[in-house]
Amino acid sequence: MKNLIAFIVLTTMLTACGETKKEEKPVLKIGQTTQNTTAPKGTALALTGNDMMQFDKKELTAKSGEKITLTFRHVGQLEKRVMGHNFVLLVPGTDITGFASEAAAAGADSDWIPNDGAQVIAHTKMLGGGQSDVITFEAPQPGVYDYICSFPGHSGMMRGTLTIIP
Ligand code: ZN
Repeated sequence: MKNLIAFIVLTTMLTACGETKKEEKPVLKIGQTTQNTTAPKGTALALTGNDMMQFDKKELTAKSGEKITLTFRHVGQLEKRVMGHNFVLLVPGTDITGFASEAAAAGADSDWIPNDGAQVIAHTKMLGGGQSDVITFEAPQPGVYDYICSFPGHSGMMRGTLTIIP
């Protein structure tokens, strides 16, 4: 973690120094994962959500311990406040209905993630039509994990499972 922070500081400094140039460097934010372009190993997963309140995949698979890079895209056109979509991977045993109610109560201020993410393994930002987000996280222990969209009223239709194989 110290190295990561050092890297972030260094990156920020470099970006600041290069301000006069037109080059745009991606800025790494703390607490946010980004694509690692140098990582040779890992699993790339892609998922979309649309204006019909549907994920394009109900099943995803990855290998335990591998680094998962998940690209989530909202391929619809509706705004975030009416048809927001995210990808939320839940801790096994989480009651989806209960979680969804808590997410609705948590609201936009917490990006629809309740309890400071205690029941969440990984999640994207809430997106509106045309937006996308990329997250990376380590594939957890082998098992079957539920993922949902935590926008109010969406988890009934927008849910699927990520199977982690040994
Ligand atoms: Zn949604």
